[in-house]
Amino acid sequence: MSQADHYAPPAALLGLPVVWHPDCLLHQPDGEVWLGVWEPGTEVPARAQVLLEALEAGGAEVVHATVHDDGALLAVHDSALVEHLATAWEDWEAAGFPSDHGRSRVVPYVFPTEGLLCGVPLRSPAAVHGRVGRFCYDTMTLVGPGTWQAVRAAADAALTAADLVAGGAPAAYALCRPPGHHAGPAGYGGSCYLNNAAIAAQALRDSGAARVAVLDLDAHHGNGTQAIFYRRGDVYVGSLHVDPGAGWFPHYLGYADERGADDGLDANRNLPLAPGTGDAVWIEAVDVLCDEVRAQGADALVISLGVDAAASDPESPLRVSAGGYREAAQRISALGPAVVVQEGGYDLASLGELTTAALSGLRAP
Ligand SMILES: [Zn+2]
Repeated sequence: MSQADHYAPPAALLGLPVVWHPDCLLHQPDGEVWLGVWEPGTEVPARAQVLLEALEAGGAEVVHATVHDDGALLAVHDSALVEHLATAWEDWEAAGFPSDHGRSRVVPYVFPTEGLLCGVPLRSPAAVHGRVGRFCYDTMTLVGPGTWQAVRAAADAALTAADLVAGGAPAAYALCRPPGHHAGPAGYGGSCYLNNAAIAAQALRDSGAARVAVLDLDAHHGNGTQAIFYRRGDVYVGSLHVDPGAGWFPHYLGYADERGADDGLDANRNLPLAPGTGDAVWIEAVDVLCDEVRAQGADALVISLGVDAAASDPESPLRVSAGGYREAAQRISALGPAVVVQEGGYDLASLGELTTAALSGLRAP
């Protein structure tokens, strides 16, 4: 892997580079279909603008993401998924849905579940509106005209941050939008398209780290990251999140008994937390993951930094404070060099403060 072209000196206040690409603003889902109703949604471009402004005001040095080739994406995602994401909007438009019917975003309506196929091998339908459900597993992760450019730019930001850490920086932050931790090897959902954290972890492996640990602080289970590394022993994945068994997304995954398989057995760890969990118990869970990483060893870390576990966030019932996020970042970054990747966090009023607090806990150069 090449060094990033724009290695910047550490930011004055935050002590780390913030990697960003303006194309991340081009993804405008204009809402989501939530329980059958089109709603405004919370994964909006303003999230990235708020984050960028807060980090610049805090003294961060903004580093422009550099273009990386598709090989880095294909190292963790099936080519069929990447191809679908790159072409879905054009196909949707060519099929006439936006102009003829006012269907302004790509959304699936039929899903090839086990209940549908009953053992018959999966085919790839020719029609885009049939094909979408092969890849998109929910109705709230819409594709529009700028989605692919933004998804690609977010992956480039994660890869550029990984370059910086591989080049010796103690930490680098990728301001990724859309987020990524719900995107798996061959499927997307949960407002995520490509898995930025997994792409960064694989890049760290490819640049020489023998073992990488991904720690996911987002309020929701990082099911996509889990799926990508579930059978691998070289990338540990630990996630603390609101208990899916208590009725929270992603509902089907994120339980404590999912411990990895084959070479990855015991390299996957889920810590589901009760709704209402605040700093004390949340940080205890962070410590459990840190102890496990320390015991198993890791040359480099990826932090999936979702700040939607905050009390102010509308998308989860956890009650973590800005100080709690700072504490977590301190403990994790003591384990080794870290790439921090932005995941969720939806309360525009507190998003900047929460993320700045978390990043201020990272190891200074
Ligand atoms: Zn989340």
